[in-house]
Order: sequence, then structure tokens, then C-alpha cells
Amino acid sequence: MKGSAMASSRQPAKAAATSAASEGAEIKNYHLGERIGQDELALVYRARHLTLDRDVHVHVLRRSGWIAVSRFQLAAKLAARIQHPHILPVLDAGHDERYGYYLVTPPVNAVPLQQMLDKGPIAPPTAIRIFAHIGQAVDELHRQKIIHRDIQPQTILVQTNGTALLTGFSLAATVEGPDLSELDEADYLTPYAAPEQTFEEGTPEPSLDIYALGAVLYHMLTGEVPPGTGIEPASLASRNPELAPADRVLRRMLAPQPHLRYPSAAQAAAALRGALRAVVEPGGNEALTEAGSEGQWLENPMEIVLRDRLDANFLERTRKRAEQLHNGEGVRRLLDSWSGDNPVRRRQLGQAIRIDQVVSYNVYFYDLKVLYETRTYPETRERPFSGSRVSSRKQAPDRWQVDVAVPEEPFADVPVTEVAVPNSEKSSVCPRCKGETRVTCARCQGRGTLDIKRTVKSPTGTHSELQTVDCPDCHGQALLTCDRCDGQGSLLESSVFQFSRRGRLWQNTDEIEGLPQRTLEERSEQANNAAIDLHDPMWHAVQPLHELIEEATKSVGEETRIVAAELTIRGIPVTEVDYTFRNKPRTLAIIGFDDNIRGDLSLFDSERILIVTLAILLVVLVAAMVYFGMLRP
Ligand SMILES: [Zn+2]
Ligand SMILES: [Zn+2]
Repeated sequence: MKGSAMASSRQPAKAAATSAASEGAEIKNYHLGERIGQDELALVYRARHLTLDRDVHVHVLRRSGWIAVSRFQLAAKLAARIQHPHILPVLDAGHDERYGYYLVTPPVNAVPLQQMLDKGPIAPPTAIRIFAHIGQAVDELHRQKIIHRDIQPQTILVQTNGTALLTGFSLAATVEGPDLSELDEADYLTPYAAPEQTFEEGTPEPSLDIYALGAVLYHMLTGEVPPGTGIEPASLASRNPELAPADRVLRRMLAPQPHLRYPSAAQAAAALRGALRAVVEPGGNEALTEAGSEGQWLENPMEIVLRDRLDANFLERTRKRAEQLHNGEGVRRLLDSWSGDNPVRRRQLGQAIRIDQVVSYNVYFYDLKVLYETRTYPETRERPFSGSRVSSRKQAPDRWQVDVAVPEEPFADVPVTEVAVPNSEKSSVCPRCKGETRVTCARCQGRGTLDIKRTVKSPTGTHSELQTVDCPDCHGQALLTCDRCDGQGSLLESSVFQFSRRGRLWQNTDEIEGLPQRTLEERSEQANNAAIDLHDPMWHAVQPLHELIEEATKSVGEETRIVAAELTIRGIPVTEVDYTFRNKPRTLAIIGFDDNIRGDLSLFDSERILIVTLAILLVVLVAAMVYFGMLRP
């Protein structure tokens, strides 16, 4: 507040003067032409450098106050420093006595992405291209420890040649940047801002920009402004079923928990590329191949979170393998030798195709072994008892505290067994016989005899008479042994519960859509194996593991607990090669340390397949003729 008041009181004339900049005005070395636009901070003019005679765009700050000035200077400084094909560069910047602060950019022929979105959704291939371009710029910023904090359709320019440029660095967070914590957040938070975004001092995370990038992607694919923080956006499938596979990618970029988002834009772009491979038209694939034929390494998000836990040797070998394939002609050499190994494969495959992009990454399989233990609520059991009174003075322990003998072998099942709770035994007088050990016979009601009506036949006819007999139940004794205490007179009560153990294996994988799962699994190698605590937040920071643990803990409740959990992570390196053959974009995958190659029929030579098939048939035919010929006499 203090700074703001000082700035405006010192330079009141200047703030007013900036609005006077107009066509024909001269700012330092620049002659202004027509005004072609404006953004939140500045008015933009076509202009010409007076001495160099070169066309440029001049942006003149149109707001006053020290925050606006420092934001404008920050934007100029950052854009001038970072050189990247997808960041709009700043060529010059300064302060003019009459017109105030200005900065100079090349005269790009571009429109803000917002202007394109005003007309509706963007075609998926174009959207993916813009996403990939801006993603590359964002990753470069993050490498330089800069968080953009204002990625939105207003700060993305799309040139007429289709290239997208990121601009608008005035809210960026950098080590040397101004403190913007006095900004009123409500004025600067757009529907593209992550839920956790603030301008307060601290260290903002790259995940802020990943969220915003996801929100922009959502807008491009749906034509709708994202619903804003805390509201899950509608599924893409409801608009266009072809886009359904991209839902997973979007959900992860827009996850409310920052740690669940992709750690880099390149990974998000790769996932998007995989998800929408079918939608991207032939040729449109170039959009994603900016990196050229030089290979790109995509770090698996899990590798970043659990780096210290993974087998270092495995990771090193996967990186070495990728480097070998990425360096120079690695992929071509491999394809050439692969095609030479088998007559039906296309000759000189490596030379016959145009390699568009090579990306390598590791895919992981997650096996979670969980041992569940069930202890039901205790029930009271009684049994006949004779002897001295039993009543423990000790408190009976909680059932989960009771020691139960279990097999030494870990994760072994234990069938349901009944376990008595120690110190829960208590003797009591049998309530049925009151300790008398015998009870009155119910049949004869304690008389010992029964009167039975009998029908007697006589010459005069039939008549009935009563006959008294001994009670067959008590044999005339009138008393029976008490069946509750079995004639002991006392009962012993105790608490028992049902104990059992059950082991289960839960499995999940990274996204492997489009890759052969069996081949991947067979060739994978163990990268980690350890007993783990499922409550440790570290494991939940890895999406596939988080899903796995959520699933595994669903059946846990009052009666069932997890007593042991063991995680095995198996990994396998994969290299994807996008290539063009006969003008069609295709993809092949090189899987595992032994470089197993998977792809479509373009890898094979159809004529050779035919010749080899005919040759085999001929051999079989000749063999059959010889065989049957020899059988004949
Ligand atoms: Zn009894
Ligand atoms: Zn009886």
C-alpha cells in the first residue's frame, strides 16, 4: 500500500501521459502505428524501429502503480531471458519520459487463443498441437525455476502458421521476482487457476501450471470454460465418444491434490498423445513431433516420487538403453538388424521409414500382497463346570490384543478358528437346576409315572381303561440330570471370537493402452520389493499405487484389519517410435532390454511373406509325397 501511494504521487503526470500514446507517436526509437490490441497491462501497437527500419510490436503499460510497473518489468525481463520456440520473446524494454514503460516484441501474426475459443471448441489435432507447444514452453520455465501462474487462453497466442506461443509473464513466480502477495487474488484468479493458487510468499509448485494447462485443454476440447475449482468437469465422452480416452489425462491434470498431477507437461502431452492417437488425423501427427527425430526421455511420475526406493541399477540400465536408441542412428540400426533377422520382415526397415519422434519411458507393474486378519466381535460361550469358583480379577484384553499362534510363513492363510479371550472366564451356578444338578422331569411333571389310556378288546366290544406306567424319560425317578450343566451344577462362561487370516494379491499397472501387456509383463524386471506401511502418504503420491491401496483397504473395517503388506514393483523400458511410411503416420514400440519390436504390417514385406509361405507349402507337399510314396509297395 505504501509503495503504491508513493509511486502514484511521484509520477501522476506519467500515468496520465501513457494514454496519450497513439498512432504517430514516437517512443524512444520506435514510431507507433495503429493500435492492434490490448491486454490486462498494456496497449499494443504496430511500430517501426526508426534507425533499424524494422517492424515490431510495442506494448505500452497502461496502468499505474508500483505493482503494475514491477509486473510489467518482470514480464519483460523473463521473456527477454528465456529463449524458447514457444515463448514470445521480448526484444527491448525501457521507460519513455512522456509515455511511460514499454516493451517490444517481434511482429507476430497471431491471435489470442481466447479469440479462437470464442467461436467454439478447437479440432482435436489443433488442440493437441497447441497443448504440446505450450507444454514445451511450460517445462522450460519449470527447468528455470519459474512458475508462470497465469496460463489461460488470454496468454496463449496462436500464429497463422499454427505455432503456439506462451506470453504474459507478469504474474510469474521466480526467485528474483517482485513480491506480488499484495495482489487481490480475486482479480487475478481465473477459472484456469489451480484450487491451491495464491500470490502469497512461498514456493509455488510447477503443479499449478500443469493444472492451468489442463484447464486450457479442457476448454479447447469442449469449447466450455472449465467449471472452476472444486467442481469436477463433465466427461469428454458425453460430447464426443472419440475423446473419451483423454478423460483420464484431463482428470489427472485437474486433480485437486497437486501431487497427483503429472510432474511435467511433457508427460501429460505423451499421455494425451497416446490417448488420442486414433483421433489425430494422418499428418496432424506432426503437431507432436516438434522434438524432431532426437529421442526424448519421459520420466515416469513414480520414479520421481519413489526414486530412492527403486533399484538404482535397473534405472541406470533403462536410461543407458534409451540413450543408445536416441543417439544418432540407434533406432535405424536396430530396425535394420531386426529386419535382417527374418526373411518376412521388410529389408532395410530403418532406411525405408521417416522417423518422426522417439520417446522412451519405463512402464511399471505394481503387485501388492496384503494379509488380512479377521477377528469377529466376541460372543459368550458357556460349558458345564465343576470345581472351585473361577472369576478372574484381571481385565479381559481387547480381542485385537490377544496373542494367537500363527504360521511362521508370511501371508499364509489361517482357516477360521475359535479363540477364547484370556481372563474372560467366569464360573456361575447353573440357572436351570440352581446348582442341584438335577431338574424335574418335564414329561411326568415330577410324578415318576404316567397314566396311559388303553383300548381293551373284549367279547362285548371295545372299551378304554387307564393304566399307570413308569415315566419312560426319567424311568420313574421323577428327576432328570440337568442338561445345561450336564449335571455339574455350575457353568463356566467365557468370551470367544472367530480368528482367520487371508492373503490377497492386488495388481495394477501404469497406463499401457495400445501396448501388448503380456509381452511387457514377461520381460519386466523387479525394481523394488519391500514390506510397506499402507498409511504412508508417499505411496499415495503415485496414482496407480493410490488406486491399488484404495481398492485393497476397502474391505477393512471393525472386524478385519491389514496385518502385513508387501509391495513389488516390476518395470520394463519402452521406446515408442512415431514414423511415416508411404505417407501414413504409424507407431512401433521397442520393448524391454532385449528390444522386442511390436508394430503394424508395415514392418513386414508382404511379397516376402507370400514367397516364404509358398516355399513352406512346397516343402510340406514334397515331404508328404515322399512319405506316402515310401509307404507304397
Ligand atoms: Zn444345571
Ligand atoms: Zn419323568
